Amino acid sequence: MTGHDPLAWIQDGLSGLDDAGLRRRVLDRGVADPAPPLDFSGNDYLGLARDPRLAAAAGDATLRWGSGAGASRLVHGGTPPHHQLEQALAAWKHTDDAVVFSSGYMANLGTVTALTGPGDLVLSDELNHASIVDACRLSRADVAVYRHDDMAHLAQLLRRPARRRLIVTDGVFSMDGDVADLPAICDLAEASGAMVMVDDAHGSGVIGPDGRGTAAAQGVADRVDVHLGTLSKAVGAAGGFVAGSATLVDWLRNTARPFVFDTAPPPGTMAAAAEGVRIAQAEPDRRQRATALARRLAAGLDLPEPAACVVPLVVGAPDAAVALSVSLAVEGFSVVAIRPPSVPQGTARLRFTTHAGHDEDDVDVLVDAVRRHWSVGSSERTDLGPVRR
Ligand code: PMP
Repeated sequence: MTGHDPLAWIQDGLSGLDDAGLRRRVLDRGVADPAPPLDFSGNDYLGLARDPRLAAAAGDATLRWGSGAGASRLVHGGTPPHHQLEQALAAWKHTDDAVVFSSGYMANLGTVTALTGPGDLVLSDELNHASIVDACRLSRADVAVYRHDDMAHLAQLLRRPARRRLIVTDGVFSMDGDVADLPAICDLAEASGAMVMVDDAHGSGVIGPDGRGTAAAQGVADRVDVHLGTLSKAVGAAGGFVAGSATLVDWLRNTARPFVFDTAPPPGTMAAAAEGVRIAQAEPDRRQRATALARRLAAGLDLPEPAACVVPLVVGAPDAAVALSVSLAVEGFSVVAIRPPSVPQGTARLRFTTHAGHDEDDVDVLVDAVRRHWSVGSSERTDLGPVRR
């Protein structure tokens, strides 16, 4: 040992996170836990992640096609479950075709970078998911971040000169639970020749006719060019996808680097996702229950009516959010505190999500517990500044 430790700076970095109340803990769900907490923070909105039908589909496909795809789709990774899932997604989203990635994160990285490059302009809502933020950076295009849901600001930024323009937005915003104004975005896009990409990770399966998502709910599905979603939330499995025109999907299969260079997702996961997509459409009561419970929860806490299943309670300081989360954990609820940089400075929050597996009593007991530990309406935003992620 030379005494030379080139990683010593990391300890200072971790201490800095501790001092700011921003140290993260990786949570394990204990298998042996006799009374598992009531989960109000996951994204398994339709309660499909533990549905035996998905597990059976995964098991059958795994036995038949193997536990791993073995290579990228273009090398030799594609199996019938991949292909069948893509067809099912295209039919669900009413598009020509769809392409699957190994995660929603990869789908965003692959799509933004395949559609834009140097000389292009990406217009991105300031509250878009981190995977979109990273995708924008990786694209080497100019990136113009517009204020959340501020259409006048978007219109102004669209005037910047560029070879091509791409407007990208979450459908349902993951940490705020509100929805993008897609008709207005489509109007601006059409007036300026821009492409529109909607990441509907939290709307797909949850809102709109047949659970088709935010664009369908707002009647503009056919005006959105790129429908991106994840298979890890309402669908109950894992993976990401893009649905759109045959030309778009062909382009992504040829040029989206996470499609070309990433090993294809496992066949069993694809089969589970296909079963999840089927159930999401066949059992509408699941999304109806999950969204009705979200509205009940929000009403109980005097919060604005949510569009889907995400109900944020902004607390302000990171420590206060963690303290509230811990108090609720003691009472048997799992609700994780979300802190910067996942959300803007000064807006640490509890992000509640409701699921089809909850019932009214679960929500009412939660409301009662929150009200005992937090004075509803007292949310305090400290140092509200620009979003930095
Ligand atoms: N987009 C949004 C809006 C998300 O919330 C998430 C997941 N948190 C992703 C993309 C990434 O999806 P995945 O978890 O499948 O990688």
